[in-house]
Amino acid sequence: MTSDRFGRNINYLRISLTDKCNLRCVYCMPEDMTFRPKSELLQDDEIIRLVRIFAELGFHKFRLTGGEPTIRANVVDIVDQIVRTAGVQTVAMTTNGLLLNKLAAPLAKAGLKRVNISIDTLNPEKFNKLTRWGKVEDVWAGIEASRQAGLEIKLNAVVVRNYNHLEDVVDLARLTLSQPWQVRFIEMMPFGDVADFQQAGIVSQKELMATISAELGPLSVTNGGQLDGEAKLYQLEGALGTVGFISSVTQPFCASCTRARLTADGRLRLCLLREQEVDLMTPLRDGASDEELKAIIEDGIWWKPWGHRLDDEIIPLNRVMSEIGG
Ligand code: SAM
Ligand code: SF4
Repeated sequence: MTSDRFGRNINYLRISLTDKCNLRCVYCMPEDMTFRPKSELLQDDEIIRLVRIFAELGFHKFRLTGGEPTIRANVVDIVDQIVRTAGVQTVAMTTNGLLLNKLAAPLAKAGLKRVNISIDTLNPEKFNKLTRWGKVEDVWAGIEASRQAGLEIKLNAVVVRNYNHLEDVVDLARLTLSQPWQVRFIEMMPFGDVADFQQAGIVSQKELMATISAELGPLSVTNGGQLDGEAKLYQLEGALGTVGFISSVTQPFCASCTRARLTADGRLRLCLLREQEVDLMTPLRDGASDEELKAIIEDGIWWKPWGHRLDDEIIPLNRVMSEIGG
């Protein structure tokens, strides 16, 4: 078991399989984003070795993300190997869903349990504008393929003022009336070069709840008021699914945080909204033993920060979201 100095047990690792993406969402990265050369990214065997080491340290929950994890070559094989690692209990993925039409079935067969699929609006033109070129029909095809493959589905929407903060939010919440899905609204977070845009466009949970309730009726707290991961859950009257809010900026959930992140270039990122990272790539490639790597990880986790410093205008500038693995 790996704990930090605040007594939090850290057992959930989110792994960025690549910093690259087949979209350029306006809230995530600039259109002319430059990506790292492949040689700077963790190779398949390096990822699998690190997963084994993290699992031996008590990590049991793993999520693959990016960038877009489905564009990584061998993604099915990587899932298969992670699932078969001793100590690993669940493997999930966060994806834009574009390639799930083909990949959902093989990923489920390899042992993937859950997909969190990003869909910020149901409106094709607005989806295209938010993602800079995506087609919402491709995401729907991916959602349907995931359903048929038996994957558990959650939908994620980042809300950006003047892009999708009104009827789009209502349309997405309405899906929960007829589908047993969790539709989660994510408060936009500021990173790197896109921080000014992100801070100007943030829409709070309070405002979103008022917009949804005005059209669809009251949202009642569910799940006993407990967070589901990072989401606070609510339900519309008679709904099959739930509406979640992930409000990392206005209502941080640091006390219940159990996670750490492994960036595609092999850094252990201790908090999404803080720059502090531990380099695992260099010792890994310099021939460190498992025990040496474990000591570096345990020491890093011990110093995991508490709380973002956005109120003090301290914004993480060293990476954008796609490089960290959101
Ligand atoms: N490409 C995949 C996707 O879009 O789901 C996985 C990587 S993406 C970086 C992971 C999650 O972070 C997505 O749900 C995305 O919407 C969210 N995200 C990206 N930029 C964000 C930002 N600035 N603030 C909050 N969430 C953000
Ligand atoms: Fe790509 Fe996901 Fe970032 Fe959109 S949010 S640009 S899909 S990594």
